Amino acid sequence: MAEKIVLPDPDGQQQQRWRQELEAAEVVAAECLQCGKCSAGCPAAAAMERGPRQLMLLAKLGLIPMAIASRGIWLCTACYSCSARCPAVANPAGLLEWLRWEAVRAGVAENDEVYQFHRQFLQSLDRHGRVWELGLALGYGLRSKRLSPDLRLGPALLRRGKLRFRPHRVSDPQNWRRWFRRCREEDERR
Ligand code: SF4
Ligand code: SF4
Repeated sequence: MAEKIVLPDPDGQQQQRWRQELEAAEVVAAECLQCGKCSAGCPAAAAMERGPRQLMLLAKLGLIPMAIASRGIWLCTACYSCSARCPAVANPAGLLEWLRWEAVRAGVAENDEVYQFHRQFLQSLDRHGRVWELGLALGYGLRSKRLSPDLRLGPALLRRGKLRFRPHRVSDPQNWRRWFRRCREEDERR
């Protein structure tokens, strides 16, 4: 079925805001040559239904709702190889990062498994200062309502001491939480 594109922006204010935010993120979609060097060097492009070149084209055309609905933005590893290769200095990696933020703001990300995994991962770091793998796997399974097939490996990993029943915390959790909170506040100001 063809993808539905919703552009409820009769007075152009939304487009104006997007333009300003992309400018602030140093993304210059208008300069994109559609050469494809970004997608050619992207380690995640094969798994994306739209790679960085196509996302840049959508941004250039102002089709942001279509871009934020793309799962590819959650598969990006933020390696910045695309931006390093871009002859137009259009900053495709910055675009993908901004699209992820915009997807969160628009509430589009909530149902995405990768986003749910990100949240569970950060929650584990916030609580323990380290990732607690068992808690992460179970929490992600509950949040996404999908138990990972990797959980079948659980008993063998527990026997070998690779999984812990209890989290292994950092030695100074108060200091860690302060630092973590500061990062979160920085992010929320963006
Ligand atoms: S490498 Fe740069 S100019 Fe080429 S398609 Fe990608 S974003 Fe556009
Ligand atoms: S930053 Fe993301 S889109 Fe760019 S090359 Fe790396 S994985 Fe691909």
